[in-house]
Amino acid sequence: MPTTAATAVSLTAARQALKRYYGYDNFRPMQGDIIQSILGGQDTVVLMPTGGGKSVCFQIPAVVSEGVCVVVSPLIALMKDQVEALKANGIVAAYLNSSVGQSEANDIARAAVSGHLKLLYVSPEKLLSDGFLQFLTRVNVSIFAIDEAHCISSWGHDFRPEYTQLGTLRQHFPSTPIIALTATADRLTKRDIITQLKLHEPKVFLSSFDRPNINLLVRPGQDRIGQVLDYIGRHPNDAGIIYCLSRKSCETIAQKLQQKGIKAGYYHAGMTPNQRGSVQEAFLQDDLQVIVATIAFGMGIDKSNVRWVMHYNLPKNIEGYYQEIGRAGRDGAPATAILFYSFADVLSMREMVTKDVPARQAQLNTAKLERMQQFAEAASCRRRILLHYFSEDLGRDCGNCDICRNPPTTFDGTLLAQKALSASARAQQRVAINLLIDILRGMRNQAVLQGGYDQLKTYGAGQDLPYLDWYSYVHQMLNDGLFYIAYEEGYALKITERGQQVLKGQLPVSLKKFQVAEKTEKPTRAGKKAAAEAAAVAAGSPEARLFERLRQLRKRIADEQGVPPYVVFSDATLQEMAREQPTSRVAMLSISGVGMKKFETYGEAFIEAIIQHGPPRAVPAEDEADDLPSRPPFTDDFGPAKEKSAPAKGATEEATIELHRQGLNLTQIAQQRGLALSTVQGHLERAYAKGQALRLHEFLSDSDLAAIAAARAQLGPGAGLRDLFDHLREKYDYFQLRLAGIRAQRGK
Ligand code: ADP
Ligand code: ZN
Repeated sequence: MPTTAATAVSLTAARQALKRYYGYDNFRPMQGDIIQSILGGQDTVVLMPTGGGKSVCFQIPAVVSEGVCVVVSPLIALMKDQVEALKANGIVAAYLNSSVGQSEANDIARAAVSGHLKLLYVSPEKLLSDGFLQFLTRVNVSIFAIDEAHCISSWGHDFRPEYTQLGTLRQHFPSTPIIALTATADRLTKRDIITQLKLHEPKVFLSSFDRPNINLLVRPGQDRIGQVLDYIGRHPNDAGIIYCLSRKSCETIAQKLQQKGIKAGYYHAGMTPNQRGSVQEAFLQDDLQVIVATIAFGMGIDKSNVRWVMHYNLPKNIEGYYQEIGRAGRDGAPATAILFYSFADVLSMREMVTKDVPARQAQLNTAKLERMQQFAEAASCRRRILLHYFSEDLGRDCGNCDICRNPPTTFDGTLLAQKALSASARAQQRVAINLLIDILRGMRNQAVLQGGYDQLKTYGAGQDLPYLDWYSYVHQMLNDGLFYIAYEEGYALKITERGQQVLKGQLPVSLKKFQVAEKTEKPTRAGKKAAAEAAAVAAGSPEARLFERLRQLRKRIADEQGVPPYVVFSDATLQEMAREQPTSRVAMLSISGVGMKKFETYGEAFIEAIIQHGPPRAVPAEDEADDLPSRPPFTDDFGPAKEKSAPAKGATEEATIELHRQGLNLTQIAQQRGLALSTVQGHLERAYAKGQALRLHEFLSDSDLAAIAAARAQLGPGAGLRDLFDHLREKYDYFQLRLAGIRAQRGK
């Protein structure tokens, strides 16, 4: 579209509005063009991934245009969320649906007619109900925005029959531009949107579906719960969703997390709407850190600070997987997606997707599952594989997936492969993967002995390798086409033509070294300690501590105002505040996400918290604080922090002091930090000796101090701690005695 003088002016106005209301300096790719299109009066279709920034595309035109933008949105919770977010930005908005009472609805209607309202959200039922379209003729409607427009398509997974009637809008309002937005990009959906809404020569914007801020990880599916606990332990303040298959496993996983003191809830279709609603609400408010859910959870929540999503089981296709991981990191800040994968998952999922469905559907489902499996077993950049699936080419490796970060090394695996092939051949190609591995490893279990496999020449030929290594190599051989699985014969492995060639020494085999073995085993004591300490380093960096403080302030404000914390400020905004530490109006307004209204409402409180926190404290050189990774809480790796294996002593001490300042008692600190009580006490003593303030009265009353001082005086200068301890008849422990001693010295 040629840029006319008028649209140039309005684009400038749009940019100013973006800064003023949202606190953002620049449009994201395409947002500017989309806004220009709609301001030019054109019908517009926007296909953009979740978190891409669709809302701004119609909200900004609504703000800079005369009249009211009517937004059609399918879910009540979503409407409420968006209207709250708009209000927090100082934009006049309201919603009408079945949950709104008559008198409030009348007020809203008046505001719409008077033009005071900028955006009016309505459910499709409301829009199409008797008299509403009639009412709208009295309103100066600037734009119709159809959100979640894929609901119009019967091809899609969220089909809503009411949406199909939205075509009547075009008849009633022939010259009002319509913008349709969705995160579903397939061809059929796009066609349905355009034809059913009767859009007039629409401009279509298809943005990249890449979500570069999401770190993609696949983990072997062993000791899943241990891995989950380990991850949450390293990210104690990050909200996340765990998807799993059954209601039952939702409940048991949530229970296991709760037992470890993690605020976790579960969500599945077997609960009453009320129960589900309150779990969802608690998650939005950051009162629950983790939700364990079946796939039903997530549609209709806008929570932008979901920092991680895990798939406890293999999803049945890439569409579903991508949609679910898309719920992480909508604010654009770093986020993580973790998929647990084992071949057994493929087998059980295969049964699920082929059971009780027509043969053609079963075929399609199997093909989709195979693509999912390929993704999980990939040896090249995972993001490229995902985007290829959606017909998009990244053109380079992403650098933010486990394969890119830790490329597998290959080795000549011909001999290994021959051992496996030979064992299979000698077992008449009747054994499935697990039994084959048992034979190779020389196990003496029932299956092996019953089959007489301990008599084979290849029995025990691979006993030098652990189970998981063999497991990986046999799967690689499957992927490489040396074996195939005869599903109808109890999943027996069969040797292919290619496999025969390898067996005869006519074809070499290259295998990827199995690397994650040690991480899949139960964390060792040392590993656990390293993990706890790495987390301590993370929690101890000045920036992370300020972030935590701001996060708590955000939570308090959100609770007071009855809005979700991310409506106050996003994680991305808080992270920038923690980094930049703005203490003036100008500096605060330059933080991305701080608009005028938010500055007026919250600016003071956040500036005050930053000032109170003080400048980043100079830490003595011995503490090696300079070596700390700059933003450790946001690295997402299961292994100990790579940047630094041994944690700085001073930093872990500071993390303890910070918790003490926040009012936690010794036991709570020890628990939260995974440290022994004595270690925590040692931290407090050292800090106190260095001159830091403690809440001493939590450990010693004035009369305690007096009694200890008196005993010390009585025993004389030569007495040691042990003497003091005995003299006071073990009334005080060594920690208390040492604190009293430090205090006596400090007093001088
Ligand atoms: P979608 O509706 O496409 O899922 P949203 O409209 O909710 O995405 O936007 C996702 C996040 O990105 C929100 O936190 C939003 O405020 C933020 N955002 C949108 N546009 C910009 C921008 N131009 N600059 C910075 N952040 C933006
Ligand atoms: Zn990659």
